[in-house]
Amino acid sequence: MAIILHLDFNSYFASVEQQANPFLRGLPIAVAGKGRHSIDVAAAHQGSARITIDQLSFQRSVVTTASREAKRRGVKTAMGTWQARKICPEMLVIPGDPQKYGDITKRFMAILRRYADVVQQFSTDEAFADITCACGGDYLGATILAQSIRAEIALECGEYCTVSIGIASNKFLAKLASESKKPNGLTVVPPHEAEDFVLTRPLADFCGIGHRIEKHLERLGATSVATLRQLPLSLLLREFKSYGYFIYNSARGLGSDELEPNEDPKSIGNSYTFPHNLKNEQEIYRNLLALADRVAWRMRKQNFVATHIAGYVRYGDFGGYGFHRRCQDPLIDGLDIANTAWEIMKTRIDAQKGVRLIGVSASGLLPLGGSDSLFDSQRRKTRALKALDQVTDKYGSGVWQRASTLQTNFKERVSGWHYDHES
Ligand SMILES: [Mg+2]
Repeated sequence: MAIILHLDFNSYFASVEQQANPFLRGLPIAVAGKGRHSIDVAAAHQGSARITIDQLSFQRSVVTTASREAKRRGVKTAMGTWQARKICPEMLVIPGDPQKYGDITKRFMAILRRYADVVQQFSTDEAFADITCACGGDYLGATILAQSIRAEIALECGEYCTVSIGIASNKFLAKLASESKKPNGLTVVPPHEAEDFVLTRPLADFCGIGHRIEKHLERLGATSVATLRQLPLSLLLREFKSYGYFIYNSARGLGSDELEPNEDPKSIGNSYTFPHNLKNEQEIYRNLLALADRVAWRMRKQNFVATHIAGYVRYGDFGGYGFHRRCQDPLIDGLDIANTAWEIMKTRIDAQKGVRLIGVSASGLLPLGGSDSLFDSQRRKTRALKALDQVTDKYGSGVWQRASTLQTNFKERVSGWHYDHES
């Protein structure tokens, strides 16, 4: 029987904001809308909660996420901010920053992939992981594994970003379990406890039973799991068509344990348009290497090696060329990717024309573990690269760089350079 783990961040966007800005910790905040903001945090701490002009522009928005402090005061998701402010006048409204949340999502997905056999991202702040093999097939192992995952999340996403974890034999139950204890919960439901556990949960917590279905069930006399179990399957099928099976099974803690892994990319590529045209071969190679490092890093994060390398060059006059090569051995290191591309590029490059854009991409991707035999000679290198990747995951790109790429523009990426493109 499978063992599925469901992980769900608590007050996700608000926690990420509080993690990023310690002055917001302990304060009731709501994330709403998108855009720039300036908050008089000092005033907020003194209780005067001065609303700046920018704050006023959020008066008409809706609460996307409320911090735990705001939730305690009764603020709820999807409430108008004006309404939330009535309940909690000192609440600060923070505009959403999707980039920041996306970065944290990438980090926790990477952590899960290190532990689980298969991972399915369910939303920005939720994921399922099949840990059947990883935990040795028993629930004690699963509990220990969950604690390790939690510790790594605290380390790599920040300890203010807490998660609730549920572990059970299928996805429905695992999600119901994580839902049952917030914040920072760990709820384990072994198969023999499943039926009883479901009985204790309100129907409103069932993933897949929305408000409309809940009302419909109410009309049929089912207001709880116990009363829902009284309804025969035939009635549910008549009322809800084939969805009736799902409802019938949910009430008994049954469900699918099959994860739908998010699709593998067909290729991973990065390109860069330079702020000024490059007219020097060394400079062109350095930038190619920095790009290839970026591609290789993204590839390793998704546990792939490349068997094909492609690239293109655009000149200042918008002429240029593309190229493609099949590699003899699968590549995992940015240096190898760059050198493979450079072998072709150097014979054709016309630096006099001034290079405006370089793109490099890896395709023919194979799973990293799957080609082990090919990798005996490269195993040590792979380990070293993975160790560097962990440093990058923790401190952000730009924390380490090859000496030879120090003079490239890519180190400015962290401050938000707009010329680069990922595909
Ligand atoms: Mg959540």
